[in-house]
Amino acid sequence: MWSLFSSGNLRAEKAKLDIIAENMHEGAILLDDAYRVLFVNPAARTMLSVPRNITDSTKILSAFRNKFQGIDITTCVSAAMPGEPFHVPGIEVDSEIYQIFFTRLSEVDQQRYKAHALVWIEDITEAKMLERRKSEFVTVVAHQLRTPLSGLKWTLHMLSSGDLGKLSDAQKTFLLKSYENNERMIALVNDMLAADRIESGRMKYTLLRINLRDLMENVLFEIFPEAQKRGIKIDFVCPSESKFTVLVDSVKLRAVLQNLLENAIKYTMKGGTVTITLEQAGSDVKVAIRDTGIGIPEANQSQIFSRFFRASNAVIMEPSGTGLGLYMVKKIVEQHKGNVWFTSEEGHGSTFFITIPVVSESDIYKQI
Ligand code: ADP
Repeated sequence: MWSLFSSGNLRAEKAKLDIIAENMHEGAILLDDAYRVLFVNPAARTMLSVPRNITDSTKILSAFRNKFQGIDITTCVSAAMPGEPFHVPGIEVDSEIYQIFFTRLSEVDQQRYKAHALVWIEDITEAKMLERRKSEFVTVVAHQLRTPLSGLKWTLHMLSSGDLGKLSDAQKTFLLKSYENNERMIALVNDMLAADRIESGRMKYTLLRINLRDLMENVLFEIFPEAQKRGIKIDFVCPSESKFTVLVDSVKLRAVLQNLLENAIKYTMKGGTVTITLEQAGSDVKVAIRDTGIGIPEANQSQIFSRFFRASNAVIMEPSGTGLGLYMVKKIVEQHKGNVWFTSEEGHGSTFFITIPVVSESDIYKQI
């Protein structure tokens, strides 16, 4: 009887897999449970500079150690969870950039093929270079735009304030609109430059010991007129007299709180409420900013902290956002060893949370 697993069929299947393994650009190394090499494809040989005639496990693994110094295969495989490879991102070797995935194979694969682990090497030099060039381009364009936009700002200001002659009401209205649009463009350019500084690790942090409650009250004081103008009620819930001492860059953390509060107000309809809560959560202070606004569609939730991402409902409600605020919020909070996350339901509001470690006297001199 003809069988799917007839030897001819098996040979044909193996031939197909061989073609794939021989021709793919990613390097693959298959290991048994004693960490001996069962298989290595040509791409991996090229990356490790191991000629085809060398089949000795020790030599192949030693070439791996030479190339990727400090990366121990056994440790990395042990760190992998079943079905969840351990990922080492962005390793730079001789101006090439690689990422490596270490997969621990399933029990079934181990019994069937005596294979224990798969090491998967990808050369990501081109993608990384493209990313760098894109970032450089954004920085250059943003810098070039900043000067003419600032010039325009002052010209529009002088015109609308009547310094260059009296204007009719209609002229003033149009000038004011131009002034506001110009301000938006300046804000976008500044956000792009700040995001780029964060991305490239050029952002400097100056740490100060502050009470987070004071900072929050300060930001609320500034934001209150805008909330009132939009008909939004602000509730602040914080245990009275409680102190939340944190070691932070207060300018950057202020920007974080400001951004989350501005979003809560911006994406909430007139008559809605924004509730801010501060509480101790283990060794952290937890800030929750809850609104009764438009919420975030489920399909968009996984992208919300990505650069330039804006959910579809937000674009309709507020066409002028940049999609850079939350990206920066996440980076800054993580630099302070904190976390940021949210819960949201479209049409029913969102709650954004951040945690920042509370410091004791002995922690004061610790640096980020
Ligand atoms: P921007 O507000 O300029 O668009 P952000 O990075 O601050 O940029 O926010 C990214 C996106 O996250 C917003 O465009 C919006 O879709 C969504 N978002 C953030 N905060 C809220 C909120 N409180 N309610 C609803 N959507 C929000």
